[in-house]
Amino acid sequence: MIRTGLSFLPLLYAVVLSGAVLLLWLAGEWRRSRLRRREWRAMGQCRLCAEWVRPAPGADLWRCPVCRALNDRALPSDL
Ligand SMILES: [Zn+2]
Repeated sequence: MIRTGLSFLPLLYAVVLSGAVLLLWLAGEWRRSRLRRREWRAMGQCRLCAEWVRPAPGADLWRCPVCRALNDRALPSDL
């Protein structure tokens, strides 16, 4: 057992509480960034007008609602 004075308890309380808040914040940010990446992965950008569209899941080809161009799901870096 570590002997400490009574004045050490508020400091210990503050450190433990700050650590818990920091861990909860980090977990929330990690979860939020994961959801944002998943949403962006599901989006597609029209190759003609650069409009971002959420195509139907599983569809290889999708039509842009703005310019009516037919696009595929491949990323522009796959060209
Ligand atoms: Zn378009």
